Amino acid sequence: MKKSKFPIHYQILLALLLGILFGYFLPAQVKYISWMGDIFIRALKMIIIPLILSSVISGVAGMGSAGDLGRLGLKTIGYYMFTSLIAILTGLALVNLIQPGTGVDLGLMQQTDELGLGSKSFRELLLEIIPVNIFETLVQGNMLSIIFFAVLSGFFINYTSEKSRKTLTAFFESFFELMMKITLFVIRFAPFGVFGIVALQVSRSADLAGLAGSMGRYMLTVIFGLLIHACISLPVMLRLMARIHPLRHYRAVSSALMTAFSTSSSSATLPLTIESVENNCRVSNKISSFTLPLGATINMDGTALYECVAAMFIAQAYGIELSFLQQMIVVFTALLASIGAAGIPMAGLVMISIVLSAVGLPLEGVGLILAVDRILDMFRTSVNVLSDTCGAVIIARSEGEKIFL
Ligand code: ASP
Repeated sequence: MKKSKFPIHYQILLALLLGILFGYFLPAQVKYISWMGDIFIRALKMIIIPLILSSVISGVAGMGSAGDLGRLGLKTIGYYMFTSLIAILTGLALVNLIQPGTGVDLGLMQQTDELGLGSKSFRELLLEIIPVNIFETLVQGNMLSIIFFAVLSGFFINYTSEKSRKTLTAFFESFFELMMKITLFVIRFAPFGVFGIVALQVSRSADLAGLAGSMGRYMLTVIFGLLIHACISLPVMLRLMARIHPLRHYRAVSSALMTAFSTSSSSATLPLTIESVENNCRVSNKISSFTLPLGATINMDGTALYECVAAMFIAQAYGIELSFLQQMIVVFTALLASIGAAGIPMAGLVMISIVLSAVGLPLEGVGLILAVDRILDMFRTSVNVLSDTCGAVIIARSEGEKIFL
């Protein structure tokens, strides 16, 4: 495809800014342009399931032996847990330091009934990884089960007869190639989509200043923590573990980051994440097709940090002092909640019930943070996607790949 003179990430950035201006100054007119965002999100959703299925199956099949897959799997999951923990500890330190919840007026509480909080236990989440009906799972878009089935299929392709192995591998590779072509086509419309989505969001949050005023310290704590993670922790890891200049990496994945910011969905951003990591960072399809879909599902550093800060904020607002041990339980359950959260808007808010109930905090506390969640979601989703891309390049480097060349 021909490269345009004005690179796509600048186009998206421009669209983001124009969207903010449009939504702010012409909120009544937003209904005439919001369809652009709807079409873009629908197109992204259209690709996600076949993209994940074909990329994971072809990636795992291409890995060959069981030893390779096991090593890569352990390394990837190890990296994901490690960075999420660092994010949570950053949040914990900040929330204890800033104490945003101390003295908060509880009158701000909102109704939380519609959220369906506490509907699933962690045990159920784990059990549901094994699909009872793969077609139903595909229809519902249950990512972890889809990945589970795809990994199994890719793995056992290597144990079929020579003829079947070749046919199946070629089929899934070609299928994946096709999905990437469609992805590239959809990405061309990203600037229009981002413009529509952002304008709609901004026009809806008319009282942005009012909200920010009352919840300011809490929002700042979350955003400050996310910034530390994105601008210090992850860059240090990129430098030390992959010897990559962080700015170069940021530039390479900027379209994905901006799409994550505007859609608040790691899953919807996945096509762009794969495209940036493969085409700009030059990570092989073998590594990216395994690490990125898995990362979009279980690696959520931003969400993990947010879960911890939000739970501690609620405790502070209710005047409940959490002991060291209880804070460690918050850390652990925040990690579980981030793993269990789906890559869709506001999934993290729903998962917070896991953290709250683990330390006996009132679930109604969610009402406190509801109003500003959508804004924080944009920031944490960008960090989630950033961490996935860092993971892919770090793991590619550790496997001896010559990335960024
Ligand atoms: N929106 C986030 C994501 O897709 C999940 C969350 O709500 O924290 O990564």
